[in-house]
Amino acid sequence: MEVKEILVNRFISKSEIEGIDFVINSYVGCPNACKYCYASFMKNLKSHDEKWGTFLDVKMTDYKLRKRSIEGKTYLMSSTTDCYNIYEEKYELTRNILKQLINFDFKLIIETKNALILRDINLLKQMKNLEVFISISTLSEKILNDIEKESSIENRLQTIKKLHENGIKVGVSIAPFFPFLTDYKKIIEETKDYAFEYHFEFLKLKGESKREILKYIGDNYNEYYLEYANIYLLNNDEYYKKMRLEIENYCENLKISYKIF
Ligand code: SF4
Repeated sequence: MEVKEILVNRFISKSEIEGIDFVINSYVGCPNACKYCYASFMKNLKSHDEKWGTFLDVKMTDYKLRKRSIEGKTYLMSSTTDCYNIYEEKYELTRNILKQLINFDFKLIIETKNALILRDINLLKQMKNLEVFISISTLSEKILNDIEKESSIENRLQTIKKLHENGIKVGVSIAPFFPFLTDYKKIIEETKDYAFEYHFEFLKLKGESKREILKYIGDNYNEYYLEYANIYLLNNDEYYKKMRLEIENYCENLKISYKIF
C-alpha cells in the first residue's frame, strides 16, 4: 500500500447525493479495495495510475469547520473512501473532525465497513443528530474475502450490536446488493434487533469493476453468469424491478424502515 500525506485546503465538498448537503472525505483511495468500488473513478480525477485499493492519500490540512456553514445541514462521511479504514488508526483524521463537530446542530451520517468506529464511541455519543450505517452485502465469508479486504462479517455484526448497545442510532446498508448472492432476508434476520433502518443499493458496475465482477461471477458462480450478463451487458432491469417489489413487500410486512437507492 502506497500511503502519502498530501496538503489540501479542505476535506469537504458539496454533495450531488440526494438528501446530503456536503460530503467529508479525508482520504483519497481506500484500503478496503472492494472489487466493485463505485468510487474508483477518483483515481483518474486525482491522477493515480495505481490499481484502486493500492494507494492512499492522507489529506493534511488545518481547515476548520465553521458553525455557520454546518448548522441545519446534512453531512455524509464518507462517499469515496472508508473514513474508518485501517490507516485512520494512525492518522485519526476522522476522529479529529468528529471532535470539531460535537457541538454543532446538524445531521451527520457515517458509512463504514470497519469496527474501528468503536474507538470513537465516546465522541459519537455526543453528536446531536447522528446515524451510522454499517455496510454488509453478504453473510458469506468466502464472497467477502474474494471481493473486499478488511473487516469480517462477524466484526461488522458485532459492531452494529455494540453501537446499538451504546445508544447510537445504527442502520445496515445492504450495499451493494449482488443479484442472486445477497441474502437480504438473512442479513435482516441477523441484525433486526439492533438496526433502526436498512438501505438497499443495487450493484452498479462500470469500467474496470464491471470486468472484474463479471469475471469473478463467471469463475465462481457460473450458474448466474448469464443472468449477470443480461443485467450488466444487455442493461436489462427486470431483475431489479422484481427485487424492488419483493423487498418493499418484505420490509412492509415486517414493519421495517427501509430505503432503496
Ligand atoms: S469501502 Fe467503499 S470506498 Fe472503500 S473500496 Fe469499498 S466501496 Fe470503495
